[in-house]
Amino acid sequence: MTSCSAGWALSAPVLLTLAVCVGVAFLSAWVSRQSHFPGQRSFFMLHVGTLWWLLAAALEMASQGPHCKMLWASMAWPGILAVPTFWAVFLWQYVNTERLPISLRRVWGLTLVPVLVWLLALSNPWHGLFYGPGSGPISAEVGAPIRYEHGPLFFATAVYVYLFMSFSLLIVLRAAFASQGLYRRHYLAFVALTAVPWAGNIGYVVFGWTVFGFDPTPFSFVFTLLALTWLIIGVRLFDVLPVARDLLLKALVDPVLVIDPRQRVIEANPAALQLAGVHDGWQGRLLVEWPIIGRDLHALLQPQVASAEAPLLALTEPSRYFEVRQRAIERSVRAERIVLGEMLYLRDVTQRYLSERQLAEALSLSEERLHTISALHAQLSEQALHDPLTGLFNRRYLVEFFQREQARALRERSSLALAMIDLDHFKRLNDSHGHLVGDEVLQAVAQHLQGNLRSTDSVFRIGGEEFLLILPDVELAEAVSRVDCLREQLAACDLPTRAGALRVTLSAGVALWPSHGHTLEELMQSADRALYQAKRDGRDRVLVSQP
Ligand code: GH3
Ligand code: MG
Ligand code: MG
Repeated sequence: MTSCSAGWALSAPVLLTLAVCVGVAFLSAWVSRQSHFPGQRSFFMLHVGTLWWLLAAALEMASQGPHCKMLWASMAWPGILAVPTFWAVFLWQYVNTERLPISLRRVWGLTLVPVLVWLLALSNPWHGLFYGPGSGPISAEVGAPIRYEHGPLFFATAVYVYLFMSFSLLIVLRAAFASQGLYRRHYLAFVALTAVPWAGNIGYVVFGWTVFGFDPTPFSFVFTLLALTWLIIGVRLFDVLPVARDLLLKALVDPVLVIDPRQRVIEANPAALQLAGVHDGWQGRLLVEWPIIGRDLHALLQPQVASAEAPLLALTEPSRYFEVRQRAIERSVRAERIVLGEMLYLRDVTQRYLSERQLAEALSLSEERLHTISALHAQLSEQALHDPLTGLFNRRYLVEFFQREQARALRERSSLALAMIDLDHFKRLNDSHGHLVGDEVLQAVAQHLQGNLRSTDSVFRIGGEEFLLILPDVELAEAVSRVDCLREQLAACDLPTRAGALRVTLSAGVALWPSHGHTLEELMQSADRALYQAKRDGRDRVLVSQP
């Protein structure tokens, strides 16, 4: 330590090294203020290591005593080891777009070996395993540089450093081969940034090259500094791409999230942050833990839920609907696909969803109405064919019914009988018992007629107390006898009314198709004539008019 009193001298190489120091300090300050880019923390650590190395080198060159020089040479080691270590980490993160910063625990882990080497170098005077006893000034001149005799620990350290350098070179070469265009040029620049200082170092360690009698590696950082400045300011490596990406994401009104394979959110645009009400500390947080959207979104991403249609994220508070589009972020390395994460794009479809739902509701309502209308319609048409008092078919239905029966009789070459029935002295019954009783009698007569007909026969109420029977497939004699039978049974039947059991008789006229007429009108006229004859003959009888 006493030889440090030999003093200091500011030579040109010292000033150059200090100038590079200032450059590196500015560069690192500027880079740390840039928007986030992959490997930013390790990039910063790399600059801290470089600064340390350069300062120690400047102090070694400026100091004049050999012991003092050797002390500063030993002091440089943490920086010398930090540079390749964090360079490798930075490249790994940058190339793999690893957006999560390296954890502080790992940073401490990676500084372990540099600190150990530092201690070994500082304790060299006691063991001599780092620099051999042959180390000393190259000349007798004051402040002459030291030529080091490298010991086994030095070479072990060099191997450790070269392992990191080989790893770095491998990463960027692989990335350069796997990419194209601008990206390939970037990666090739990194190859050069890795190779030049390393070549300088190998030249020094293996062939004994020196600059100003000194290890050329720190001087090669002049090149590194210029190249990085060019990459950053000229090509705007850390600038254009992330800024353009940021602008795009920020401008999007739809929320966008990027998650890594462990479902941690590593990127989110302002729309996503606003939707979840998240402000800071979100990077690296599990998606499922995100407020408002996290749990539902996580559930939608489960493989069993996956379907051809984009899943719908329904939020209740606020009431909004999003179509979730997923896109895997992949990198292909030699025909093999590696999933780096997933982009989730939430398209706001609230308007569309609500209109669709309203439409569906309106549709189901109109279907229900249509159903009611058809039911009412059926009921109405049923009512239109029936007489409300007796429930028998009415006159309106008779026309349609007759045409059908006539067509069938024609097809089957059979006949068709028609009987016109009128109750006898019904006016009298009304007069003596009242209309309500008359109605009850009409209902009872209807029931009597319906109950005593064959299933193929039909009965219509065609007037106040007038009925019409249609008997298919009968001969005239049989028709007359059957109507007469009805007459006889009715005359003997006690009809229940509010005025007690009443009896009523009927008169009827029968006509046969086609003998008595071809149309319904003709047949009815014929039957009517017979009916009048029956009335004239004294009622309670069945007659046929002459064809
Ligand atoms: P006839 O033996 O000659 O047929 O004598 P009638 O009294 O039955 O004479 P007509 O057929 O001309 O009279 C029918 C009467 O039937 C007239 C009306 O008071 C009565 N009438 C018609 N429609 C209804 C009805 O819906 N309810 C009741 N209670 N009476 C009716
Ligand atoms: Mg009448
Ligand atoms: Mg009558």
